[in-house]
Amino acid sequence: AKVNGRRQTCFFDAAMSRDLARRREVEAELRGAIQKNELSIFFQPIVDLSTGRIRTFEALVRWFHPKKGEMRPDEFIPVAEETGVIVTLGNWITAQAARAAAQWPADVTLAVNLSPLQIKAPGAALGIINALREAGLDPARLELEVTESLFLDDSEATDAFIRELSERGVRFALDDFGTGYSSLAYVNKYPFRKIKVDRSFVSGPDVSRRTEAIIRAVAEMGAQLDMEIVAEGLETIEQVTAVRDAGCTLGQGYYFSRAVPDYLAAMLLAQERDE
Ligand code: C2E
Ligand code: CA
Ligand code: CA
Ligand code: CA
Repeated sequence: AKVNGRRQTCFFDAAMSRDLARRREVEAELRGAIQKNELSIFFQPIVDLSTGRIRTFEALVRWFHPKKGEMRPDEFIPVAEETGVIVTLGNWITAQAARAAAQWPADVTLAVNLSPLQIKAPGAALGIINALREAGLDPARLELEVTESLFLDDSEATDAFIRELSERGVRFALDDFGTGYSSLAYVNKYPFRKIKVDRSFVSGPDVSRRTEAIIRAVAEMGAQLDMEIVAEGLETIEQVTAVRDAGCTLGQGYYFSRAVPDYLAAMLLAQERDE
């Protein structure tokens, strides 16, 4: 058992230093990626489940690496967070996304993901206001998606950020709902307009009776509190029907569309307005 234990330790150390080396590499490259035009913002529609029309586009960052190909945000956003690059990156994402959104019809809103570190950086709220002003996008058309991890250390910076932007008309959505802790406390404390039920609740070809009951309970709460409930990760018509029947008003997922480049997002909107 001892030998085995030592071997495992060696293996673990090697894996850790490989991981560290990879992170350093990603960090260095990430800093250059914006200048080199390797990053772009894609947009995934969030659809009104009663009319089928697009109400919002969520901005999702993509990195087209010259050697590694397309890198998913799950690979580099955590590195950007750990190294602080997320502040620069986040400001760039908001500015780019706002510029695209300013071209859309006025009733279509933009959702942008914010990481906790970005929000706690000095001048975070001002950075967003400036990006909106430069793009000419009404603050009421911006929704900021935050996750429960933001509230783990309940900081004044977070409260001030949310207050400042809410006063200007920016809305907030609680993302990945149901995966963290004491979610209801945050729902009660902050002025969320939307709750996005995590994809894990609709995974699989069907929505099970158990998860349907959970979605129904969340949707009922949403209706009482004047919040909209978004079901994420909808891939099949069965899932769409199930979450709609359970009371979700909005849906997002591959069933409707993947995230697409800005020109395709604009085309989707033009198409639906021609019909
Ligand atoms: P998220 O905010 O929960 O975003 C939803 C993720 O689910 C996206 O992955 C989206 O492409 C994917 N998705 C949408 N519909 C479906 C579906 O029907 N099935 C499946 N299997 N997946 C679906 P993506 O773009 O890879 O982003 C992953 C995460 O990275 C996001 O999770 C978000 O936490 C983070 N992220 C993405 N863009 C940004 C950004 O601009 N800023 C920050 N701070 N985080 C971002
Ligand atoms: Ca999100
Ligand atoms: Ca989510
Ligand atoms: Ca997520």
